[in-house]
Amino acid sequence: MQVIDPATEDVITDVPLAAEEEADAAIAQARRAFPAWRDTAPGDRARLLRRFAEAVDGDLENLARLEVRNSGHTIGNARWEAGNVRDVLHYYAGAPERLLGQQIPVAGGLDVTFHEPLGVVGLIVPWNFPMPIAGWGLAPALAAGNTVVLKPAELTPLTALRLAELAREAGIPEGVFQVVPGAGPVVGQRFVTHPDVRKVVFTGSTAVGKQVMAGCAEQVKRLTLELGGKSANIVFADADLEKAAATAPYGVFGNAGQDCCARSRILVERSVHDRFLELLEPAVRNLVVGDPGDEKSEMGPLISAEHREKVASYLDDAEVAIRGSAPDGPGFWFPPTVVTKPGERLLTEEVFGPVVAVVPFRDEADAVRIANDTTFGLSGSIWTRDVGRALRVSRAVEAGNLSVNSHSSVRYWTPFGGFKQSGLGRELGPDALHAFTDVKNVFISTEE
Ligand code: NDP
Repeated sequence: MQVIDPATEDVITDVPLAAEEEADAAIAQARRAFPAWRDTAPGDRARLLRRFAEAVDGDLENLARLEVRNSGHTIGNARWEAGNVRDVLHYYAGAPERLLGQQIPVAGGLDVTFHEPLGVVGLIVPWNFPMPIAGWGLAPALAAGNTVVLKPAELTPLTALRLAELAREAGIPEGVFQVVPGAGPVVGQRFVTHPDVRKVVFTGSTAVGKQVMAGCAEQVKRLTLELGGKSANIVFADADLEKAAATAPYGVFGNAGQDCCARSRILVERSVHDRFLELLEPAVRNLVVGDPGDEKSEMGPLISAEHREKVASYLDDAEVAIRGSAPDGPGFWFPPTVVTKPGERLLTEEVFGPVVAVVPFRDEADAVRIANDTTFGLSGSIWTRDVGRALRVSRAVEAGNLSVNSHSSVRYWTPFGGFKQSGLGRELGPDALHAFTDVKNVFISTEE
């Protein structure tokens, strides 16, 4: 498959797509590598993960530049993403020696629990954040003693392939981490149906996530799902309006809106609605959209022509209030766009592009009602100076990751995942490790 630079439409390279037999061969190799990796002394497994993290760090600029070309991410973001893989590997490198079981009091013996690794884990990664999403599955899965096969998105395989090379250079044993580029319905589907893949981690659209979940049900396969979002950025009249408006573009137009956490609905208390729009306008117009390799760029292109068409279709029945800039010429560019009269699809579906709807609300109860009026529940922000309200609204909004007076919500050491149809299970943070193990309870009788 040809790999395209979305900023120029140039062909970068081509990458072979694996057939089902090749996916099977990779799974078989991961299966063979599993017992030795599981039985590697915890300290040695930790050391290898740290070496892998250091290899990523040593290659950080190269990885970032690769992502700029393959995905159109701005260089600043791409450096953060490569650094995130390094950090998440370091974080879970602290885990192998701390994977503690319990000793539970019983009469007539000893009762202990073990956290056993599952075996082969299949990661299905989307095109929007190829590096971090790979790292979020990879690091805890390997730390817990599993082996991993990873399918990158067809559009963005290059950094995943480089990560596999770095793992090998760092001494991660053969078969412990393999990347299998291929089509979702072929390679991804094989991870779902192959009996030797004991867990699937899928990040992508809710529609495909549901198919993956149904497929995994056949074998009661372990599953983590990170799906779409339609997150609300709720601005109350008592908030620091200047700060809320200045940061709102970064909360939705980051990665050109191709972000499951994008705060794509800005809900503004009616009394400050017009003032907020006045403040938002320069922030949107001044956003630097252009060559993602340029240090000054804040937003790059969309991933493909097809995706740009899909994003544009959401404006068919909407009234645009503010339109930012975008370069002419080749590349899948789309200007940051603010809509004040959105159509039904724009209000309910995940656009996954730089389009945001600004919607007025009456009072706190109305804000919560609108925020929750969606099948999704991933993320969101609340802007207010009233700490009681901040806590009330945080508890009432049905979403897995909220931030108060901030537009960001992802940290590798805190749990991440969705309510409702935004997902199942949690990645990152201290507990994600256990999602890659099964608990075994053993009773040892001391009776003579
Ligand atoms: P998909 O859900 O189709 O793709 C995500 C991953 O799943 C890719 O690796 C894809 O492979 C793979 N896949 C596709 N079909 C199957 C299958 N039947 N079995 C197993 N794996 C499969 O997302 P799209 O790329 O089509 O994007 C469509 C929309 O989904 C976006 O516009 C956005 O709204 C949403 N999305 C949300 C994401 C999020 O982070 N929440 C991430 C990506 C998309 P392949 O690359 O070969 O198609």
